[in-house]
Amino acid sequence: MNSVIIIGAGIIGMLSARLLVKNGVSVTLIEQGYAGKESSWAGGGIISPLYPWRYSESVTALAQWGQKHYPASLKDIYHSSGIDPEYIKSGLLYLDIGDELEQAIQWEQQFGYDFECFSGEDLKSIEPGLDYSNAERQGWFTGSIGQVRNPRLVRALREDLLKLEVTIEQQTQAQAFISEQGAVKGVVTDKGTFYADKVVLAGGAWSARLLEKWLKTPKIAPVKGQMIVFKARPGLVSRIVLSKGRYVIPRKDGRVVVGSTVEFEDFDKTTTAEVLQELKQEAGRIIPALANYPVEKQWAGLRPGSIDGVPYIGEHPELKNLYLNAGHFRNGVVIGLASCQLLVNQLLAQEPIVDPAPYALTEERLVEDSRKIDLSTAI
Ligand SMILES: Cc1cc2nc3c(=O)[nH]c(=O)nc-3n(C[C@H](O)[C@H](O)[C@H](O)COP(=O)(O)OP(=O)(O)OC[C@H]3O[C@@H](n4cnc5c(N)ncnc54)[C@H](O)[C@@H]3O)c2cc1C
Repeated sequence: MNSVIIIGAGIIGMLSARLLVKNGVSVTLIEQGYAGKESSWAGGGIISPLYPWRYSESVTALAQWGQKHYPASLKDIYHSSGIDPEYIKSGLLYLDIGDELEQAIQWEQQFGYDFECFSGEDLKSIEPGLDYSNAERQGWFTGSIGQVRNPRLVRALREDLLKLEVTIEQQTQAQAFISEQGAVKGVVTDKGTFYADKVVLAGGAWSARLLEKWLKTPKIAPVKGQMIVFKARPGLVSRIVLSKGRYVIPRKDGRVVVGSTVEFEDFDKTTTAEVLQELKQEAGRIIPALANYPVEKQWAGLRPGSIDGVPYIGEHPELKNLYLNAGHFRNGVVIGLASCQLLVNQLLAQEPIVDPAPYALTEERLVEDSRKIDLSTAI
């Protein structure tokens, strides 16, 4: 195999392109907007699922591989692009775990994470900015968890790919596939037709939309997440803190990102005043001093939602040489590195890093019509 077209230049498309080109494959990326401006720009960059014990072992396998390999990969991307994706091992503090605690402890032990308990005043040694009014409050800390700053990571990836001579066709929408004898040969776009030996669809939340006119589609639908960022001072918050589904993420320059909502709004990315108020309140509940700092920006991104958060990685059963790498839902950063490596293993017939079976495009994971996808019971 000499050439691959990748549809979608989010973190998944760009990481896949990087791995392929380093294996001597010629890659063309086709992006309907601008590279790295959708979900991969909008996300929090936590290199862990939020409540990892709620996910299946197949998500854990990708997450653990990513957590192990990210530090070196990010260093490499930084050196080759000159843009710092700001990897920080800030650790993740869980507050108010409630009746999931037993399950969490069991999971952390089974998969070998450090999981330390701090209570009342002792929590100060982990995160001084917390509210200590409740002496009974318990926090569970995993020090090994890191984070990246999404807008910087995607900019670094784009820069690196340009240096590696990957062609990035921006503002070019893939609209159909060209096939011959049951195998894909190329992609029709609004700017012309492109040909390659294999095609990878990494279209994030839009993946089902492109496929559904031609083939069965994965159960992927957009799930909106709104976020805000406080222009705070360095040192005000030093850990990622998660409580009741809301989190604060401290960046290197003192800014603090707070997220995020989970909204089923089709392809709408509008932000709302209600959510702004709600996130400000939640931020103050976790770190009271944040109330003294201004909110600099509010935004929304569309996660590629899937029922169980298990991405689709592999060849489409109805069209040979068409591969998918999509549906990473809330975890596209943490599981993205491993999912791209697994995809490349398959494209290049290499030994897979993990068992590919759980991610395959099996009959029961596909539907005829993406409008019938119901994610209301999603993880
Ligand atoms: C608010 C929020 C917080 C998050 N926090 C985290 C976190 O802390 N940790 C974590 O691991 N994950 C997090 N995520 C999830 C993570 O960001 C996503 O899973 C990941 O970005 C998905 O990457 P992607 O490349 O598949 O999608 P995208 O970044 O959306 O990229 C897909 C690209 O495909 C393009 N495209 C689609 N169709 C076509 C077409 N027909 N032709 C051409 N181009 C096309 C789109 O324009 C887009 O640029 C978060 C997401 C959000 C929204």
